Amino acid sequence: MIVEVALPVPMRGGFDYLLPEDHAQPTPGARVRVPFGSRQLVGVITAIKQNSDQPTDKLRRITALLDHKPVLSALMLDWLNWASRYYQHPVGDVISTALPARLRKGEPATSQQSFWRLTETGQALNSDSLKRAPQQQAIIERLRAGRCEDKILKQEFSAAIIRAVKEKQLIEATDDAYIPDTDWPARIKISGQLNANLEQSLAITAINNQAQGFHSFLLEGVTGSGKTEVYLQCIAPLLQQGKQILILVPEIGLTPQTVARFEQRFGIDVAVLHSGLTDKERLTVWQQAGLGETGIIIGTRSAIFTPLANPGMIIVDEEHDGSYKQQDGWRYHARDLAVVRARLENIPLILGSATPSLETLNNALTGKYQHLSLKQRAGGAKAVQHQVLDIKGQALDYGLAKGMQQRIRLHLQQGHQVMLFINRRGFAPALICHQCGHVEECHRCERSFTLHRQLNKLQCHHCGDAKIVPSRCAACGHPDLQPVGMGTEQLEHGIQRLFPQYTAMRIDSDSARGKQKLHGLLDEINQGNSQLLIGTQILAKGHHFPRVSLVVILDVDSALFSADYRAAEHLAQLITQVAGRAGRAQIQGELWLQTHNPGHPLLQDLLNNGYQHFARLALKERQFAALPPYSYQALFRSEAVNGNLAYDFLEQVKACLRQTDISLIGPLPALMEKRQGRYRMQLLLQSDKRTGIQQWLSNMMTRIEKLPLANKVRWSLDMDPMDF
Ligand code: ADP
Ligand code: ZN
Repeated sequence: MIVEVALPVPMRGGFDYLLPEDHAQPTPGARVRVPFGSRQLVGVITAIKQNSDQPTDKLRRITALLDHKPVLSALMLDWLNWASRYYQHPVGDVISTALPARLRKGEPATSQQSFWRLTETGQALNSDSLKRAPQQQAIIERLRAGRCEDKILKQEFSAAIIRAVKEKQLIEATDDAYIPDTDWPARIKISGQLNANLEQSLAITAINNQAQGFHSFLLEGVTGSGKTEVYLQCIAPLLQQGKQILILVPEIGLTPQTVARFEQRFGIDVAVLHSGLTDKERLTVWQQAGLGETGIIIGTRSAIFTPLANPGMIIVDEEHDGSYKQQDGWRYHARDLAVVRARLENIPLILGSATPSLETLNNALTGKYQHLSLKQRAGGAKAVQHQVLDIKGQALDYGLAKGMQQRIRLHLQQGHQVMLFINRRGFAPALICHQCGHVEECHRCERSFTLHRQLNKLQCHHCGDAKIVPSRCAACGHPDLQPVGMGTEQLEHGIQRLFPQYTAMRIDSDSARGKQKLHGLLDEINQGNSQLLIGTQILAKGHHFPRVSLVVILDVDSALFSADYRAAEHLAQLITQVAGRAGRAQIQGELWLQTHNPGHPLLQDLLNNGYQHFARLALKERQFAALPPYSYQALFRSEAVNGNLAYDFLEQVKACLRQTDISLIGPLPALMEKRQGRYRMQLLLQSDKRTGIQQWLSNMMTRIEKLPLANKVRWSLDMDPMDF
C-alpha cells in the first residue's frame, strides 16, 4: 500500500511512501515520520493510493505512523489543498503552517491525561454523610461537577485526603482513552444582554434567519454602533445548540476587554489564541477546539486554522485590518481563507467593520455578501465632529499649531483626555549633521536611522539594525548632530513641556512591548491616570477610550501622497478608526486633522460624507483604473545582493508568461528598493479574470521553479498582494 505525504519542503506536490506490510490502514490527515534524503521529517498523509508514478522499488518506507486518529479532518485537508492551489504554494508548507508547532515536530496529538471521577458508590453517596470530614466532602462535591485532572485535584487537595477518599472507593483514577468534556452548552448562562436597537435587531434577525448553512454577511457598522452586541446575540442560539464559534480579531485588537465581554455574557470559558502563547498552550487550545470542548475561540490571524468539532459560525472582526494578511512564507489572507472555510463547513460567516475593505464592500454591493448596516452609535454616544486645521505657514511647537494647543487645553480643563496620533515611533526619523548635512544611514537598507533618544540608539526601522548614537558626524567629525522630523518620543517630550501640569503617556510598539505591557498601559489610560495620550496606529485598533474627547492626527500629509494605490483607503480607515476611539460615553468627541492640504478631495469627501460615501467613490475610481477588486493581481518578488540577478530572474519569469492575456508590469524596483543589504525587484501580474491568472500560474510554476536563476535569488509569489 502506498501513501502520499505532504512534507514541509519547498517542493510542490506530495511524496509517495510505502507502508509496512503488517500495517493497519491509516487515514488521510494522520501524521507520519518518513525518511527524506538523509533526514527524518514529519508529514501528513494526503491520500492512500494503489499505484505510484514512481516504480515501487524506488519508494521508501515510512518510519512511523504518528496518529491513529487524523490531526486534520477530510474537510480541513480539502480546504488546505484548495489554499495550496489558490496561493500556488507548496501543499506541505501550507499544511505545516496550519499545524501547531508541537504537532509539526511530531509530538503526540492527544495527551494521555489522568483524571479522577466518582465511582458509582461515590455518585450515589449523600455527601452529608461526610460532614465530619469536610475536605473529603469537598472532593466529592468537586467531582460531582465533572471529572477533574489529576494534576489539578492534587493542587487543590492534599495527597492524604485524596488517598483516604480513594480507599473508601468513592473516587477512581482513569487514564484510558481521553473522554472530551463537551458539557459547556449546559453551563451557558446568558447575562447582561442589552436591548438591541432597531438597526441591531434587523441585523440580528437577518443573520438568525440564515444561520443554518453557508451565508456571508458584511456587518458595516460605524465604531460604537454595537457590532459586538450583534455578534453576541447572534451566536447565543448557536452556542446553546452546542455549536462552536470562531472569532478572528486583529493582532492588537485582542484585548482582555473583548474576551471578558464574551465570557461575561455566556458564563463559559473563552479559548484565546494569539502570538503570546507558548507552543504548549497553543496545542492545548487546538486540541480542545478539535474535540469540541470549547464553545468560543477568539484569536488572531493563524487562529483560522483551529479545528472545530461542531462549527457554528465564523466571525472576522475588523475585517479590513492589514494584520490578517501573512507577509512572509505562505502569504495567505485569513479573511479570504475564512470565506472558503465557512463555505466548506457550510456555516454562516460575518465580516464586521466600521471601515470595510473595498474588496469586501464590493462583494456586498454586488450581492455576494448580504449587507447589514449600523449607522447610529449605540447607547446614545454622540457622533464625532471632524475638523481640518490648515497649518500652511503657521508656527508649530512640536508639530502643533497654536490654535490646536488652545483646543487641547480646553479639553484638558474640562477633565477629559486628549489623544495625539502620529504614525512614526522613535524621537526623530533622522539625525543630520548641522555642519555638513550628512545623515546617518543604514547601509543595508539605504534609509536613514531613526533616533531613539530614550535608548540612546539609532535604529533602522526596516531591518532592526541598531547602534549607539554617535557623538560626532561620521563624515566631518563635527559634534553638532540634530534630529530632523518628529516621532512619538519627541511628541511626548514636547507635549509634556507645553502642558506641564498634565501627565502624558506614550503608546507605541517601543513602550508597549509585550501584550501584558500594552494591557497595563490601556488600563492606566482608562483609569484616567494620564490625560495626554500619544501613540502610533496601535492606538487606532479596537480599544475603547471613553474619556477621550479630542483626537488630533498630526501627519495626514505623508499618507495623502503615496505611490501605493491603497494608501487613500488605508488613510481613510485610519482616520475613521481613530475618530471612533473618542467620545464613546456621553462626551461630544472632536477629531482634528492638521494638514497643508485642507482642500484635498479625498479628505474633503471623507470629512463631509463619511467613510461609507468615500469608500463607494474610491471603488468607482478603482473600477475606472481597472484596479482590484475590479481586477486580480499576483506579485512575483525577488531579491538578491546583486540587483541584476533579481531583475534577470523576473525577466525570465516574464518570458514564461508573455504568451498570455495577463498584463505584466515590471520588473521594477520595489518601493523600498534595498533592504537588509539586498536589492528587491518585482513583477506584477494583473488580469480582469481571476481564473486567467490561476490557470497560467498553475501551468507555469514548475517551469518557473526550474528557471536557471530560481535558486540564485530569493523569490516568492504573492496572490492578491497588499503591499508593494
Ligand atoms: P462596536 O463593536 O460596533 O464598536 P460595541 O458593541 O462595542 O460597538 O458597542 C459600543 C458601546 O455601545 C458599548 O459600550 C456597548 O455596551 C454599547 N451598546 C451596544 N449596543 C447597545 C444597545 N443596544 N443599547 C445600549 N448600549 C449598547
Ligand atoms: Zn536597515
